[in-house]
Amino acid sequence: MKNAAQWQLIDQVRARFGPRAAVTDAHDIAPWLTDWRGRFHGAAAAILAPVDRDEVAAIVAMAHALGVALVPQGGNTSMVGGATPPVDGSALVLSLRRLNRIRSIEPAAGIAIAEAGVILSDLHIAADAQAMRFPLTLGAKGSATIGGLVSTNAGGTQVLRWGTMRKLVAGVEAVLPDGSIHDGLAALKKDNRGYDIDQLLIGAEGTIGIVTAAALRLAPAIHARAVAWVGLASPHRALGLLRFFERRTDAVESFEIIPASGLAHVLAHIPDTRAPISGEHPWHLLIEAVSSDGDDEPPASLVERLLGEAHASGLIEDATVSASEAQATAFWRIRDSLSEAERAQGPAVQHDISVGVAAMPDFLIDAAAAVMARYPGTHATGFGHLGDGNVHFHVRAPEGVDRDAWYKNEAPGITRFVHDLVVAAGGSISAEHGIGQMKRDELARLGPPSRIAALTAIKRAFDPSNLMNPGKLVTLAPSACDQ
Ligand SMILES: Cc1cc2nc3c(=O)[nH]c(=O)nc-3n(C[C@H](O)[C@H](O)[C@H](O)COP(=O)(O)OP(=O)(O)OC[C@H]3O[C@@H](n4cnc5c(N)ncnc54)[C@H](O)[C@@H]3O)c2cc1C
Repeated sequence: MKNAAQWQLIDQVRARFGPRAAVTDAHDIAPWLTDWRGRFHGAAAAILAPVDRDEVAAIVAMAHALGVALVPQGGNTSMVGGATPPVDGSALVLSLRRLNRIRSIEPAAGIAIAEAGVILSDLHIAADAQAMRFPLTLGAKGSATIGGLVSTNAGGTQVLRWGTMRKLVAGVEAVLPDGSIHDGLAALKKDNRGYDIDQLLIGAEGTIGIVTAAALRLAPAIHARAVAWVGLASPHRALGLLRFFERRTDAVESFEIIPASGLAHVLAHIPDTRAPISGEHPWHLLIEAVSSDGDDEPPASLVERLLGEAHASGLIEDATVSASEAQATAFWRIRDSLSEAERAQGPAVQHDISVGVAAMPDFLIDAAAAVMARYPGTHATGFGHLGDGNVHFHVRAPEGVDRDAWYKNEAPGITRFVHDLVVAAGGSISAEHGIGQMKRDELARLGPPSRIAALTAIKRAFDPSNLMNPGKLVTLAPSACDQ
């Protein structure tokens, strides 16, 4: 029955919008059925590919009438299997990549309106051409789309100053599960008409509607930047340095912590990398400060001056400030290569977690010790966005283990152990990647029940037939899905 309805939908879409709107060639579809990390493999009879909001609305309305489930997909860079369809072929993929127009950029208002399929780096380039910037970036910027970024409430490396997508999105346009349109693009500063539908759609992972465009807040283009590399004794000192900077300047955009082992892996596995500072340091920081105005103190002299004071007071062991754009890029390359270097080092299980910023230094030390005591031979550590209380907490397998057997037999227990530590510390098991299919059962296990009940009620209110990205984020009880 399901397949018959799917093929009816495919035929209807082709009849109305032409052959490009419904791709069924297995070869063309294949790359989009596996997630970026290659962990989740799905099946789908077609990828539906509308070109504008009205085509999306028509397709969703048809799918609703026929009872066909849809998996929205942007750049397919989800870290949690969020855009991968179910393995049983029970859904079609709805790709938003052809909705790739930047409708407007208004420097005076500081707002860009971009369609869901616009690739993040294309928005960066377009904003730059107007002496503006969209102050959110991440490793997948060459593929990740505005719709995906909105739907995962993405973060990245500038959250410290600019916030996540929740703060950067001024309004959302979306197609709701019955095909009706929600238009929030007016980007009103004040709007008190009850629940904030835009904010419900941000971070919803495609489970309550399809984002077709967003109004995005822009910042003035960067005039100058400085990137510093710092060596120091502990994450506690790193937090001390963060507070030290916060009291003196608001020019800092990134404050990234890196353990000595992470730097060592990069130097060992990534070609053409070298340590920015000499000597052994247990922990490192990458700090970026920017100015958008020529009248501001140049970031390089600001950071150098503040690091000089921090060094004199014994807070840090050593530091250097980039002397050129090439050196700044080289420092960032080390930071951005941490995951790749770790993969080259051996199997590891990753956790994108957050705790309160002030609690992070203790968590980094205590959780790593607890994991290594419970799972002898492993090596646990965290790196990433210290200034946001968000690290990627990775546990490397003992030397010489069988990779597949370790992933199958050990990794799930380690993940549960880490997540229990996070919850005990009052934190979140998903800081910026979302829940998708990877963390859905852990979210259900760890709750709290009131949160799960509220999430499920929202899902059911928008999508009682469970046709929007089923199986992601929350599970609807069968009775609710059988309608
Ligand atoms: C190398 C790398 C680095 C990364 N770094 C970061 C980082 O620093 N911070 C961070 O937050 N994330 C990061 N990510 C994760 C990822 O890039 C983000 O989650 C991104 O927002 C996903 O965008 P996408 O277009 O690829 O979405 P997809 O992967 O296609 O989809 C992601 C989710 O959004 C839904 N979705 C997609 N488009 C729509 C739409 N138009 N309407 C409704 N639902 C939709 C999908 O169904 C899915 O649930 C990284 C990923 C990679 C591969």
